[in-house]
Amino acid sequence: MKPTGPIPHGFEAVDGELAAGGVGLAEMEAKAGRTPFFAYSRTLIERRIAHLRASLPDRIKINYAIKANSYAPLLEFVSGLVDGLDIASGGELEMLQQLGIDGTRISFAGPGKRDAELEAAIAAGVTLNLESENEASRALDIAERVGKTPRLAVRVNPDFELKGSGMKMGGGAKPFGVDAERVPALIRTIVDAGCEWRGLHIFTGSQALSADAIVDSQGNILELADRLAREAQVELPKLNMGGGFGIPYFHGDEPLDLDSVGEALDKRLKKLPESLTEADLFVELGRYIVGEAGVYITRIIDRKESHGQTYLVTDGGLHHQLAASGNFGTVVRRNYPVAIANRFGDEPSEEVNVVGCLCTPLDRLADQAFLPRAEVGDLVAVFCAGAYGASASPSAFLGQGPAAEVLI
Ligand SMILES: *Cc1c(COP(=O)(O)O)cnc(C)c1O
Repeated sequence: MKPTGPIPHGFEAVDGELAAGGVGLAEMEAKAGRTPFFAYSRTLIERRIAHLRASLPDRIKINYAIKANSYAPLLEFVSGLVDGLDIASGGELEMLQQLGIDGTRISFAGPGKRDAELEAAIAAGVTLNLESENEASRALDIAERVGKTPRLAVRVNPDFELKGSGMKMGGGAKPFGVDAERVPALIRTIVDAGCEWRGLHIFTGSQALSADAIVDSQGNILELADRLAREAQVELPKLNMGGGFGIPYFHGDEPLDLDSVGEALDKRLKKLPESLTEADLFVELGRYIVGEAGVYITRIIDRKESHGQTYLVTDGGLHHQLAASGNFGTVVRRNYPVAIANRFGDEPSEEVNVVGCLCTPLDRLADQAFLPRAEVGDLVAVFCAGAYGASASPSAFLGQGPAAEVLI
């Protein structure tokens, strides 16, 4: 038997069936109209953002990194609850524009921004988090050509990283940001060129569950931002401090102690250096806002035995939930939290392998999990599906098509 991850708060049994934020399985299914589907709970997202607001100092603003989940109804809902939105492509900008979201609420990071993407962002008043000197000069040229003052920030590749982070995105050679020692010169160049100066972006990593690691990283970020601003002789109108707040996916993972993060940050904000006294301070979060609020539901199509093991074969799989299959940035595959959704609360009684319908041995949703007995037609729930699920999975693979998505 292999353990499964912890089922997030807010999911409970109602009449023996899974309910998410008070909405029952039958209602989710009716709304989706077919399996497999992702259901994202408004109530759970709202609760999470309220918790963030209550724990972090009032001065800290919250950006949502939309690559975590860009399902349009969810984006529209979340955008009404956060202070700003972070995008990483021109396609993501179009999604926000279709929802009528103002460009001044958006910042655009990411390497390899094409000229057309820079132009669309500049025209819309989006802040560009510049990833290189080359990108800066292209942005300035494009702005001049279209007759707009560009809103520019510099993304820093810091000399430190977020310890214990799932994906390291700072420290040493990286495709992200400008090496810290070259940042002051770049700031001078863009400020002297007459841009609207929008400060710094320092992102050090993702998926950290240790409050101490996040507190350390935030301290380093504030110090580095101050040092770079002083060297460049500018003030910082804005500092995007990155995020990195993780969620528990696997057995033994403990939730992040957000109150400790908030308390430490509160102390630091009381003695901010002069370069930062006027700055709008942002954290940018993806999975922490939406990850635990989503569940992926897939139907059992076949139940079969092979060499003494039981397989529950579902109509879903890695083409929708790549991360749960262990093929999205993990070295060792471990089980996400899973359950039999229409027998939620039943006692576990057998060890099973839950697999998808793709003809590849990579397509596993749970290995040797201990679950209640399930039959063909029953529904399997895979939790922690609100972030990097539908938006980060190869839905064209094997022609199976995308899952349905619903906001409940
Ligand atoms: C992906 C990304 C995020 C969001 O990361 P999460 O782990 O989902 O919170 C935030 N900022 C930047 C720059 C990113 O690339």
